[in-house]
Amino acid sequence: MSSTKTPITVAYGDGIGPEIMDATLRILTAAGARIEPEIIEIGEKVYKSGNTAGIQPSDWESLRRTKVFLKSPITTPQGGGYKSLNVAARTSLGLFANVRPCQAYSPYVETKHPLLDLVIIRENEEDLYTGIEHRQTNQVYQCLKLISRPGCEKIIRYAFEYARAYNRRKVTCLSKDNIMKMTDGLFHKVFDEIALEYPDIEKEHWIIDIGSALLADTPERFGVIVTLNLYGDIISDIAAQIAGSVGMGGSANVGEQCAMFEAIHGSAPDIAGRGIANPSGLLNGAIMMLVHIGQGDVAAKVHNAWLKTIEDGIHTGDIYQEGISAKRVGTAEFTEAVLERLGQLP
Ligand code: ATP
Ligand code: MG
Repeated sequence: MSSTKTPITVAYGDGIGPEIMDATLRILTAAGARIEPEIIEIGEKVYKSGNTAGIQPSDWESLRRTKVFLKSPITTPQGGGYKSLNVAARTSLGLFANVRPCQAYSPYVETKHPLLDLVIIRENEEDLYTGIEHRQTNQVYQCLKLISRPGCEKIIRYAFEYARAYNRRKVTCLSKDNIMKMTDGLFHKVFDEIALEYPDIEKEHWIIDIGSALLADTPERFGVIVTLNLYGDIISDIAAQIAGSVGMGGSANVGEQCAMFEAIHGSAPDIAGRGIANPSGLLNGAIMMLVHIGQGDVAAKVHNAWLKTIEDGIHTGDIYQEGISAKRVGTAEFTEAVLERLGQLP
């Protein structure tokens, strides 16, 4: 094991971003993560300074060099030609796969679906997110949905490889190929082709509407779900919410060279600055980052201390439940509780 530190690029973001990043970095440092954060400023402040990209050109340089980005949520101001930095980062850094594990923590966190334990693998670069929109007439607008064979192959192969690496026995494809026969049709077709190379893994396909209904009803039937960009966006919020809280899930955006790790939730401006945000989503993203940079040992320590905190009923407001939780805490007290449990690990 090398003792040299891995440089990572860190952005504190907007809304609750700074609070949850502070908490996360304190925990990683205490756990002995061998990282060297380079801080960059992105988001609202940069946008409001007149930069419509939300990031300084020089900060791309840090990202291209470290190739690892730990990012808090940011707020994209409405209107004014501001471009979503989230989308720009995914496309500029070639982050084709968005990986979102989602798990119930029953009986410690209230959920109607105690057996929920799935991973959503969302295509991250194509579909309606390419932002190609036109006005056709005064009253008609058009948005272009782009799906490419190489794009489908990359994400679907990634999903099967992921299933194999993490011992998941089933991969489910969700698309709307009964209506969009060419675009979604290609996604489904490529899924069927690539599935043949993985005879050890069960495969199934559902139309996105019935697939979403099944997800909301019996999420335990799913293992790995692979789907197109927009559907993936929607179903991952559903999955996170029914697992207990959008405040719990972390996500990895993975490319061939770079990777970005974040919480699945947004900047939550409604609770920003009040010290009550749940830092678990970003912390879980950071745990995935540690695994990615080869520090699985530290990742396991952080994960165990965090799990113990949740199991001990030390809960922020978003997951607090009378009769289940032991104590309602804010961000700082939650962080202290994780640090305390880190110290108790063998
Ligand atoms: P954005 O536009 O930045 O995506 P949003 O309002 O669409 O923001 P979220 O920021 O994800 O969505 O917030 C949705 C709801 O969940 C809000 O009520 C917010 O307060 C709550 N929430 C999100 N993240 C957390 C968290 N980490 N801890 C506690 N509550 C959270
Ligand atoms: Mg949102």
